[in-house]
Amino acid sequence: MSLSEWRKVLAEALTKAGFAAEAPQEAKWLLGAAISRDGSFVSLNPNYTPSSSEEEKIRAWLQRRLKGEPLSRLKGMREFWGLPFHLNEHTLDPRPESELIIEAVLKWVGAHKKDSWRILDCGTGTGCLLISLLHEFQNASGLGIDIASGALSMAQYNAELNSVSKRAQFQNSSWGKGLKKKFDIIVSNPPYIPLRDKETLERGVREYDPPQALFGGEDGLESYVSLAKAIPPLLAPKGLVVLEIGVGQTHSVSSLFQKAGFHRLFVLKDLQGIERTLAFEL
Ligand code: GLN
Repeated sequence: MSLSEWRKVLAEALTKAGFAAEAPQEAKWLLGAAISRDGSFVSLNPNYTPSSSEEEKIRAWLQRRLKGEPLSRLKGMREFWGLPFHLNEHTLDPRPESELIIEAVLKWVGAHKKDSWRILDCGTGTGCLLISLLHEFQNASGLGIDIASGALSMAQYNAELNSVSKRAQFQNSSWGKGLKKKFDIIVSNPPYIPLRDKETLERGVREYDPPQALFGGEDGLESYVSLAKAIPPLLAPKGLVVLEIGVGQTHSVSSLFQKAGFHRLFVLKDLQGIERTLAFEL
């Protein structure tokens, strides 16, 4: 069967499974990824006939996709800040809105002279925040911490993949426990979804992202309580803290940090207009 015929079969199956609006695009991406190419290869080569092993993979990936598994999990890859990151079951699938953390750091750094930043990423997962920042700042170095060892090995792999491994370290730690050094820039995209919202999450998130990277206790704020306590002794004088937050958490997280002595510098909104990223100084 040619790619154009496969594309029809996949689009029909995805439509039936309720992916109606995105089915034609999804079919193209899924097909491209399953044959280790991209969507444009599928558009440009409608007469290409996948080999029998490629066909097997197309069928298997279609079945997994129909059960709700995100395409990034099937590929085991996600692009973030223009860089490739591998995923595993211990890491959150990086989200585009988390790129706002990199933008926030760039905005702050623009007004400062130094470039040998020491960066800490709390709950590093794939390492996407730390690695993207090290990629931006060629004289910076940093540490990514996580409580999941399976995430740390993935982050280490991603640091090598993106040629920053000489300047990156990864360590098992819960919100900075046991760390002695100080950092100029501390970033975190902690778990912040309230447990009570679990059932309202999209299937691809609920069933495929690791729960410990998603949920911040009953009210979603538990990680910020820990971070507001852990960060002050780890932050160098005049250092920056940038945090991602969940929907409607601006006020609660700001007041937790203000009570710990921080002042808020700015708030960034995501493409949906949701306040998503908070920047603080001590
Ligand atoms: N941003 C993720 C989501 O909305 C949640 C991950 C997190 O809690 N940081 O699905």
